[in-house]
Amino acid sequence: MALLSRHMARLGTENAFHVVPFIQQVEARGLRVIRCNIGEPDFPMPAHIREELKRQIDAGNTKYCDPQGILPLRKAIADHLSAQGVPAAPERVVVFPGAKPTVGLTQHAYLDPGDEVIYPSPGFPIYESFTGYLGASPMPLFLHQESGFTFSGDDLAALITRRTKLLFLNFPSNPTGGVATRAQLEEIAEVVRTRLPPGARVMSDEIYQDIVFDGFVQQSIASLPGMAERTIVASGVSKSYAWTGGRVGWALFPTEEEAQAFRNLNINYFTCVSAYAQEAARVALESPLSKPAVRKMVDSFQHRRDVVVRALNAVDGVSCVTPKGAFYVFPDVGGMCERLGILAAYAALPPGRRARTTPATLLQMFLLLHHGVATLDRRSFGAIGGDRDHHLRISTATSLEDLEEAMRRIAQASGDAAGFAEFMRDPQGVW
Ligand code: PMP
Repeated sequence: MALLSRHMARLGTENAFHVVPFIQQVEARGLRVIRCNIGEPDFPMPAHIREELKRQIDAGNTKYCDPQGILPLRKAIADHLSAQGVPAAPERVVVFPGAKPTVGLTQHAYLDPGDEVIYPSPGFPIYESFTGYLGASPMPLFLHQESGFTFSGDDLAALITRRTKLLFLNFPSNPTGGVATRAQLEEIAEVVRTRLPPGARVMSDEIYQDIVFDGFVQQSIASLPGMAERTIVASGVSKSYAWTGGRVGWALFPTEEEAQAFRNLNINYFTCVSAYAQEAARVALESPLSKPAVRKMVDSFQHRRDVVVRALNAVDGVSCVTPKGAFYVFPDVGGMCERLGILAAYAALPPGRRARTTPATLLQMFLLLHHGVATLDRRSFGAIGGDRDHHLRISTATSLEDLEEAMRRIAQASGDAAGFAEFMRDPQGVW
């Protein structure tokens, strides 16, 4: 009898965390690694939110609380969404320990084996991870650089069947930084309204909604006519308020019945989210001090994006579009793979090894082990079809000085075919 269940063998992971032991290995050798692998703002959380957190703890707000989320926070969330034109009410809001649990719990709550889940690929890896785990069928919606990492109504319609149960949307996107204009949202909404089976749900992951550039405003698809009735809207404090350790996220559900089902999932899994953190999250949403704090951070991300995109496009064999949101860039590194002999080395691998890697994975590991730059490969954002094209995700949630150094190192690596050949002779446990 196997120790772990069959489900566990099908559970994926988030490589941003998985790659850490390799970073430690490189640093133990004395090479400082520039961490462009993790999606965590490098700014401190704003002072007014921090002060509220401390005040709440000092006031003794440290006991169990409502498993659905404290009412003042649920009200603040409902007001925040209503202000964007999303019909919302506190009774339909549930608070979770971060936005991430909304992904897995949604799949637990709505899917039976054989149901189909449509999700963007490349996309946040947890969408695909849970689908396999639950025995549902993954239906990746492949996004391409040529079309700005977005998709048309027809692309979506082609994947819908009578077994479609969930559709994940993520604007702005991890890992591409792609956003959706009003016209694109309308096209998607039209397909959802006319083609998606009646019991199916859209899950709109809006965690990067505040991190948008060049004056762009990312609307919620739930604000479009007929969409709130079938859309779960998820978000949280991790990105907007640089508060990844707070573990406060939430979702707005189409009905109270669904919200109650998730309240019960919370009771089963977590009991509740820390009340002191929820009070501070309420302040984050309600305080007039939040907007300027977020603005300042977003301005920095925009400046870094410009510096990084310019530097990447100057590297032979790299082509990078300018993302409109989030704090990632997702360059096509196919030419660099070619120049360094990675495509040839990949093709020459024994089939067993080839099946466990991709050209972009080899480049990712070469950049990390030989040049001290931690990035993530395309496959980290959807294993199914993860070898179809050659991209890396570079997080700009690192200081400008470090990003500039990372760009210098990447440029140097692009001419280091000898170093890559050496890496292939001694891949230091990469397999
Ligand atoms: N959704 C997306 C698209 C993300 O990139 C992340 C974090 N990397 C999350 C959800 C999870 O955020 P949280 O820290 O609130 O769990």
